[in-house]
Amino acid sequence: MTDILNTQLMHPRDQIALVMTRIYRRGLTTTSGGNISVMDENGDIWISPSAVDKGRLQPSDIVCVKKDGTIEGLHRPSSEFPFHKAIYEIRPDIKAIIHAHPPALVSFSIVRAIPDTNIISQAQHVVGHVGYAEYELPGSEALGAKIAKEFTKGYKAVIMENHGTVVGGSNLVDTFERFETLEFCARTILYGKSVGSPSYLTDEQIQAFEDQVPAPLLEMEVVEHPSDEREKRLEIYNIVKRACTQGLMISSYGTISTRWRGDDFLITPTGIPRWDMQVEDIVQIRDGKREPGKNPSRTTYLHQEIYKKHPEINSIILTQSPYLMAFAVTGTNFNVRTIPESWIFLQDVSSVDFGSHFNNQTTIPDLVAKNNPAVIIKNDCVLVTGNSLLQTFDYLEVAEFSAKSLVLCASIGNLVPISNEQVEELRAAFLK
Ligand SMILES: [Zn+2]
Repeated sequence: MTDILNTQLMHPRDQIALVMTRIYRRGLTTTSGGNISVMDENGDIWISPSAVDKGRLQPSDIVCVKKDGTIEGLHRPSSEFPFHKAIYEIRPDIKAIIHAHPPALVSFSIVRAIPDTNIISQAQHVVGHVGYAEYELPGSEALGAKIAKEFTKGYKAVIMENHGTVVGGSNLVDTFERFETLEFCARTILYGKSVGSPSYLTDEQIQAFEDQVPAPLLEMEVVEHPSDEREKRLEIYNIVKRACTQGLMISSYGTISTRWRGDDFLITPTGIPRWDMQVEDIVQIRDGKREPGKNPSRTTYLHQEIYKKHPEINSIILTQSPYLMAFAVTGTNFNVRTIPESWIFLQDVSSVDFGSHFNNQTTIPDLVAKNNPAVIIKNDCVLVTGNSLLQTFDYLEVAEFSAKSLVLCASIGNLVPISNEQVEELRAAFLK
């Protein structure tokens, strides 16, 4: 089975099995919980079965509920089928639904709160405002009615009181991206509260992010893909997949580039969900021009400036990873003087204002340097650089692990940082 979700060419049963496996492995559903459905063009609803192991779901396990109510398949449809059906009936724009009990969203649902998606730049745009459905018995028509009522208000994502969440979209790629982004917002807020006080973006700031016009890169006339270019393409592809499966990147955000020859480089595209990006989607940038017909990341300008200014930097990753985002949304100082590995790799990490990565800004290229490979951009992301893509990814992992330790330690005490003397000793031993 392919791991790329293609809603145009894949059968609904293959799409559902793929996404269920993905969310199970990412820890967003349990063996027994959660269900996914897709509405077919002819009105049939394909849905995950009741009481089948979500960790080993096969396409053949998926059940079809025909328009006339007859059921085809090896199992019974999910017991939550009534609310899937109720949503499809009142919202013809929704063609795919994910329901699950991911812990961070359940945290909100059990304190009866809604995560504010204005916490990170693209989330409000991807998820929209979130509805709230009061508690009803699972599987009941009453629950279906409560949820459908929220969907009539135009929401595409709803928190279910003392239960979980239900998210819809125009297809399963769209729905998965919204589900994953909403869960990410919830975690960012929860982790942020452990280390500080989250601040939220205004609708105007989010609009400014969405309205960014990419630097007008001309298209190159002749494109060549020599073997060393293809090698780098595959390297980027593999790191994007690895970042997604390791929980270091989500569908709706993340850019990876790597220097190719001179100041020419390869960069991931804009507008393609990161989980489903393919090798051919990666964009070659040569002499400041882009491959014809492809749209490079909106941060291409920033990458170009960093490569020009810093010959020792050969790779850049911009991403939202959950524990680093706790620092990005609170402005709390990310102190990496935790363990020798963190300080040696990252040294002191600065944070810059939201918008510093927009076009024509020079703050970040001026800030990154060989010994300061990472920068936190408030309410947006972390930017990491390195002399190879694998090294950059390693720095990202080290940074995320350090951030996680700082979030987790908050409940038992305050960080006792490595002293200045110890830092100088590390500098002498490792950074000569
Ligand atoms: Zn449920």
